[in-house]
Amino acid sequence: MNQDKKYELLKQIKEDVVNLKESPLCRERIKNRVFPVIGEGSHDAKIMFVGEAPGRNEAATGRPFCGAAGQILTEMIESIGLKRQNVYITNIIKDRPPDNRDPLPEEIDLYAPFLDRQIEVIKPEVIATLGRYSMAYVMKKFWIENELKNISQIHGKVFDAESSYGKIKIIPLYHPAVALYQNGLKEQMFKDFQVIAPLIKDFSTAI
Ligand code: URA
Repeated sequence: MNQDKKYELLKQIKEDVVNLKESPLCRERIKNRVFPVIGEGSHDAKIMFVGEAPGRNEAATGRPFCGAAGQILTEMIESIGLKRQNVYITNIIKDRPPDNRDPLPEEIDLYAPFLDRQIEVIKPEVIATLGRYSMAYVMKKFWIENELKNISQIHGKVFDAESSYGKIKIIPLYHPAVALYQNGLKEQMFKDFQVIAPLIKDFSTAI
């Protein structure tokens, strides 16, 4: 798919989210005059990071992972020699849940098809999930839910799966915010990132 086509399809996803009417989360967004957070990064990224939902900073700017958790995510990405602008970063939920509460199942049902469309455009070789909601959704989507366990048991493990465009690897990671409140896990989280680099075919073109 050429760049123009990718751009057009991603723009359409953005417009479809902006025009959503049925979710209480979009009504909150309109009421609070904040933005939906669609995703950012390279449209040719070999790796896609999928977080949970925008927080306050993200809804205020329209950019994913731009607050304290985002700072840690950027550090982890750079620790393996990648640049943030060369990966793609998004969330399952595109509008901020009030008070950063956990997403509801019906909110995941409403917003996940936008993530599905983003995956079909970007066609990443690796999807790294950030936190348990994106782990559960992505593992089910790619038919490996039989491998699903508590994140403390499968973080940093690599799962092979099949996508509509060929083989894909899924790697569940802790949500970066965990490093902010459980300092003891931070070192392990950086170690988990180390498994990503060798998974990307032709790593040199990904950096
Ligand atoms: N947490 C997330 O899951 N996503 C963001 O974009 C920011 C914080």
